[in-house]
Amino acid sequence: MGRDELSSTRSLILLVEDDDISALICTQSLSDTYYTERVTNGRTAIEYCQIKSPDLILMDINMPGISGLETCKMLKSNPVTQNIPVMFITAHSDPLIEDQCWDAGCVDFINKPFSVKTLRHRVNAHLTVKQLTDELKRLATYDGLTNIPNRFFFDGYFLEQAKLAARLQSSLGLLMIDIDYFKQYNDTYGHLKGDECLKVVAKTLSESVERPTDCVARYGGEEFVIVLPNTNLEGVKFLAEKLVADIAALSLPHSSSAFDKVTVSIGGTVIEQGSQDVKKVIARSDKNLYQAKNSGRNKAITTKD
Ligand code: GH3
Ligand code: MG
Ligand code: MG
Ligand code: MG
Repeated sequence: MGRDELSSTRSLILLVEDDDISALICTQSLSDTYYTERVTNGRTAIEYCQIKSPDLILMDINMPGISGLETCKMLKSNPVTQNIPVMFITAHSDPLIEDQCWDAGCVDFINKPFSVKTLRHRVNAHLTVKQLTDELKRLATYDGLTNIPNRFFFDGYFLEQAKLAARLQSSLGLLMIDIDYFKQYNDTYGHLKGDECLKVVAKTLSESVERPTDCVARYGGEEFVIVLPNTNLEGVKFLAEKLVADIAALSLPHSSSAFDKVTVSIGGTVIEQGSQDVKKVIARSDKNLYQAKNSGRNKAITTKD
């Protein structure tokens, strides 16, 4: 994505300011280029950010109720809101207050009275950094072909969920999915068609899982993985069999497959009562996948670890 494309999406700036005149100056300075919305206190700002995710917050320090500094600290301590950059608008330059602004986790501050031009340039600089960082994160964690999380994301997520499962003493399921006779699919229909098939399979798998913490990722080549937090063996088995049926039901033609259509084999397992040994779980799923392949393909095998 080029810079022009990046800047073509209008950024959303949340202004947290109790004073009407200051708010008007900021809004007038920025609303030609950006969407701006205003709230008048910290509490409402926090509630707002739970629902919408502004690209930048411009925050007054002195407000009734919780101060701007406290509001910023609270935003920074919540994983949902911690990545929203906060820029303070301070009443006057005071080194002590400046230190407090940095300590609260801001990206910058601007002293009142400020030049409109300086405000615009500072805002633009922070929004550019935010957009580029977001895009870089997306590129690093998403698979370019199928647009689902990639192996790098899976490695981190699975480890995180295994630790969480160990702490909560809950079970954690894992599925490894491999498309059957996919080399022949490419040989028969060409790599472009092969790519299209990978996209359809990725989309179907992603749509077949329902819980927000379930994660479907591309593990590599024609292999996918699904992390299933808080799911027992019975649940893992049920989902694996459903996915095998869902892919077969697509009836994507595959003339060089024994089934005449695109199918998958799945190996699944579960860590019960929270062990953190992720390598063991992957190895078990892999072994079950191998079994599914060897015993005819187009099927799922799931066992406890
Ligand atoms: P099995 O039923 O035992 O799984 O056989 P298979 O042919 O699916 O397995 P194999 O591991 O021999 O081949 C996997 C093939 O997946 C090889 C490669 O051509 C194909 N493949 C891997 N990544 C991509 C990709 O990004 N695009 C396309 N089109 N094909 C890919
Ligand atoms: Mg104020
Ligand atoms: Mg494979
Ligand atoms: Mg395969």
